Amino acid sequence: MESTRNPLIIGAGPAGLTAALELVKNGVTPRIFESSGSVGGLARTPTDGDWRVDPGGHRFFTKSEEVAALWRSLLPAEEWISVHRSSAMLVEGQPVRYPLVGHDLLRQMGFRRGMRGLGSFCWSRLRYGISDHSETFRDWGVRQFGRYWYELFFDGYVRKTWLTEPDQLASDWANQRIKPINWRRTGKPDPAGPDVFLYPRRGPGQLWEAAAAALAGYGIVPSLNSTVTSIRLDGRTWTVELQNGETASGDAVFSTMPLRLLIEALEPQPPKHIREIAATLRHRCLITVAVALDKHYDIPYNWVYTPGKNFRVGRIQNYGRWSSALAPEGWKGTHLGLEYFTLPDDDLAVASDESLGAIVQEDLRELGVDDTTLEHVMIVRSQFAYPINDAGRERDVARIRDYLRLRHPTLHPIGRNGMHHYDNQDHAMLSAMQSVAKYFGAKVDPWRVNTDRSYHEAGLTRA
Ligand SMILES: Cc1cc2nc3c(=O)[nH]c(=O)nc-3n(C[C@H](O)[C@H](O)[C@H](O)COP(=O)(O)OP(=O)(O)OC[C@H]3O[C@@H](n4cnc5c(N)ncnc54)[C@H](O)[C@@H]3O)c2cc1C
Repeated sequence: MESTRNPLIIGAGPAGLTAALELVKNGVTPRIFESSGSVGGLARTPTDGDWRVDPGGHRFFTKSEEVAALWRSLLPAEEWISVHRSSAMLVEGQPVRYPLVGHDLLRQMGFRRGMRGLGSFCWSRLRYGISDHSETFRDWGVRQFGRYWYELFFDGYVRKTWLTEPDQLASDWANQRIKPINWRRTGKPDPAGPDVFLYPRRGPGQLWEAAAAALAGYGIVPSLNSTVTSIRLDGRTWTVELQNGETASGDAVFSTMPLRLLIEALEPQPPKHIREIAATLRHRCLITVAVALDKHYDIPYNWVYTPGKNFRVGRIQNYGRWSSALAPEGWKGTHLGLEYFTLPDDDLAVASDESLGAIVQEDLRELGVDDTTLEHVMIVRSQFAYPINDAGRERDVARIRDYLRLRHPTLHPIGRNGMHHYDNQDHAMLSAMQSVAKYFGAKVDPWRVNTDRSYHEAGLTRA
């Protein structure tokens, strides 16, 4: 038992809770401070009676055996369900399967458009070859899909969801997240296996509540509603101060708070150039409006992307196809999650529930949904939903990383916002696992997690 170790963890999301579990495994008892009233971070499951909302539509998939084993250990097999991924893009009133399938593009969109798209795709292939290296998302999209299909499917969607010009957006995430067109004949099995993901029956937060319960077994209970406002180093001791004035001290800090805010909260203050770089790191916010309609619509997709300008909504979850346990038992209506992407100072981000409701109703009508059947509504706001990948971001984050590595080796930024990296849960968890290993002396570099350029929205899904 290592009694001199008493690390502090900021945030009880997937990365913070994973760090705690890894520390406990090694006989160390951390203290966890969480600013919200629940565990799970972005992957929490807000509830209202028997209604549950997944704020982002969290698919559980990973290529890491270690992560899969931890998931398995936290929730018994009967609490996991296997869900077939099926999504579509609603383009000019027509749902088109996504990831894009060559067959659909040629048949479903009509002969003329099909040929136009194919011509544009072939021209891109001839011009650029099969290289997928591009600096900006726009270049990447045109290379991958040809200009016509890129503009039809991705340009509007990226503007609406990333809230930036596609040529201002770095392309690094696109290789990992957007599958190329599938040109196999329909009916032929995908060599990568069926597109299936795992899902905790009662939403993603169920897993993180189970993690918190496992930690409680060791006497570790996250302090909720405890926002860390400053992080001070005196000699070798870190002291965090909470919004209510309380303090706690430890030999190391694992931080999942947004990297920009971490730098702002550090004492002694980092040099001016580091503070200036950190101040430029931005996030997009997400507002998920879950609407339960007392009418059954047969929607054969988990979610539908809505790139059109006629909608304000960017993507729609169809919760019934994720898990029936997200609605009261036996409920037969349609449970949707409308996702609105905003910047912190947008009118939408600061809109009252009432004006948001009016926007949602307009979108529902545009979708052809009878809004008089609205039975239940939940609004979930996630302020730091997406670290923004604008040009130059990687270089800036690397400079902050190098400063922290050199000056503060016992301060470990981890997770999606902690490292300002567009990570899924598994990568956030791996960065926590590696940072804990580093804390115990292993020669690993947690910043290298999720820097692989290849497509990885698939992988081990066994629970
Ligand atoms: C729309 C959307 C869809 C997604 N889909 C998927 C998916 O399909 N599959 C998947 O695996 N992942 C998905 N993710 C990503 C997943 O949600 C994140 O990777 C994961 O939640 C990151 O965990 P984290 O602990 O690093 O950060 P977070 O989940 O952000 O947790 C950080 C925690 O720290 C707390 N905190 C912040 N500042 C402070 C402070 N100063 N003091 C105390 N506490 C603080 C926060 O309240 C929060 O609880 C999705 C995310 C979004 C937004």
